[in-house]
Amino acid sequence: MKVLKTIEELQNVRKSITSTVGFVPTMGALHDGHISLIKQARNENDIVIVSIFVNPTQFLPTEDLDAYPRKDEADKRICEMCKVDYVFMPEISTMYTSEEVLIKAPNKSYILEGRTRPGHFDGVLQVVLKLFGLTQPTNAYFGKKDAQQLSLITQMVRNLFLPINIIPCEIIREADGLAMSSRNVYLDEVQRKDSLLICKSLYTAASLIGKNELNSNVLKQRMNDVMSTLDVEYIAIVDRDFNEIENIELKNSIILVVARFGNTRLLDNIWV
Ligand code: AMP
Repeated sequence: MKVLKTIEELQNVRKSITSTVGFVPTMGALHDGHISLIKQARNENDIVIVSIFVNPTQFLPTEDLDAYPRKDEADKRICEMCKVDYVFMPEISTMYTSEEVLIKAPNKSYILEGRTRPGHFDGVLQVVLKLFGLTQPTNAYFGKKDAQQLSLITQMVRNLFLPINIIPCEIIREADGLAMSSRNVYLDEVQRKDSLLICKSLYTAASLIGKNELNSNVLKQRMNDVMSTLDVEYIAIVDRDFNEIENIELKNSIILVVARFGNTRLLDNIWV
């Protein structure tokens, strides 16, 4: 495995590759969620590139950019164990010049996640587009956990005619159901226990849907009941294009939850 730091190194490597490239963009502090994406990329491509870059443009000034967990050495070891070919770990000054072409995410980026984090998706699309330009992947792997991000990236690739397959990957959870996240380390013992109500509310909704309860308001109410002790930021029921829907459409719906634990926001969702 080779660790690449500069644009030139990555571009030279990319020029020499003529077979399929699987790309997994991450912000590091790798956990089993990231590893599942990397393993899928490994299975489906000749060459695997992982990027580890805590992208400043997707953080709001009030957010946890400086505190975001960084584990470069452990991350490199994990990538090596997963038989990654290249890890791209650039400095901020490598990725950004002072004169930037800004990407403007569409209006849908200002609902749900984008409502609390205005501008977040502009930053996400900007860095992903730069990374796509550098790695020119055949297949790029994204977790369904960040469902709105996945949807906006899929649209960007479609609208800009980029020849890249976006591969959605299943959410990986802790044994007790909590969706894995680099931010879970911020939770104290009580918050960690309480956080389980998030996935419990999603399982409650899934079980009601199994009994043919498809009304969004009823499902949201029952989820709220399960999470009555939490600081719930939103529960949303949307179709795969992120339009809010009154009734579940089977195979086309996503139920999303965000709850706050102090300064930590936890996201989770199920695709039904
Ligand atoms: P991040 O490092 O948080 O930017 O995440 C990098 C990629 O890993 C994104 O595509 C995430 O959606 C994905 N990811 C993060 N957590 C999980 C998880 N628990 N299961 C599956 N994918 C995940």
